[in-house]
Amino acid sequence: MRVLVTGGAGYIGSTVARRLVDVGHEVIVLDNLSQGHRAAVPEPATFVEADLRARDRVARLLADHRPAAIMHFASHTLVGESMEAPLRYLDDNVRCGLNLMRAAVETGVERFILSSTANLFGLPERIPIDEDVTVDPGSPYGESKFILERMLHWLDERHGLRFAALRYFNAAGAAGPDQGEDHDPETHLIPLVLEVALGQRDQIVIFGDDYDTPDGTCVRDYVHVLDLAQAHILALDALGEGSRVYNLGNGDGYSVREVIETARRVTGHPIPAEVGDPRPGDPATLIAASDKIHRELGWTPQHGALEDIIGSAWEWHRRHPHGYAAA
Ligand code: UDP
Repeated sequence: MRVLVTGGAGYIGSTVARRLVDVGHEVIVLDNLSQGHRAAVPEPATFVEADLRARDRVARLLADHRPAAIMHFASHTLVGESMEAPLRYLDDNVRCGLNLMRAAVETGVERFILSSTANLFGLPERIPIDEDVTVDPGSPYGESKFILERMLHWLDERHGLRFAALRYFNAAGAAGPDQGEDHDPETHLIPLVLEVALGQRDQIVIFGDDYDTPDGTCVRDYVHVLDLAQAHILALDALGEGSRVYNLGNGDGYSVREVIETARRVTGHPIPAEVGDPRPGDPATLIAASDKIHRELGWTPQHGALEDIIGSAWEWHRRHPHGYAAA
């Protein structure tokens, strides 16, 4: 299948793009390189540098390349940043998705996979969070993804565009020693903790220790990026049978302190930590119930242990202390 991957130079997008290539799909990566890295795009994929905000360009690209499926990763993705700049998130994320969906409908694309998020659940009424938990986004970032999910719902209803919304909990780990997470600026817990272990930072700041959790720090469900990639492969095939929405996580929650403690064991570094202010928009606990995708598609995470997730990320960071820049 010819698959267009937006954001395919980014952390999750490039991992999925590589997996698509490995299982025999023809991949076209579209990325504006604002966050992504050219070096992260897998070798046989066609690379197009383009910005999804340019509606006419997007329409032309789809008309030229005629993909059978789209995987849409390109997005602003930070909860905290979206609380500071809500309009940027609501404008860019919604507009880019809309431009892409419009072009998809106009050119007869039949399958669309959306990167969605656990931030759809700001104050979840139960934990673990299954797909029937009420959506109540925790930030403008989460809201922008929910708007895209709803747009896809209607495009399926009225135009037969089949979609899968995959709500990632905390994507983490590295796909291999030479393919990993490289954000500038970095804001995610695991890479920041590993930067301390590498001596690039003095300490990690824990964003609040007064949450309603066992040790007072936020609890998250960290899921390996390779397991997320596999879910995309399964969802792409399953779209032949109709649209679907899945929550993707391991079903285990780890607190910020537990993550730091595990990283200390994995790296052998003391990793000094200090408690700071909570970050606006952060829910106390997010843990996925992924029974639905397990039941329907047989998805079972293969890299669920936190030690393995942090271990793979550590391998990447040690070998590439400056990310793709020095690759
Ligand atoms: N966190 C932290 N210090 C940091 C970065 C993150 O305490 O320097 C916490 C954050 O509050 C959240 C968890 O670590 O509870 C995971 O945050 P991350 O930004 O990695 O992912 P998110 O949950 O926002 O998707």
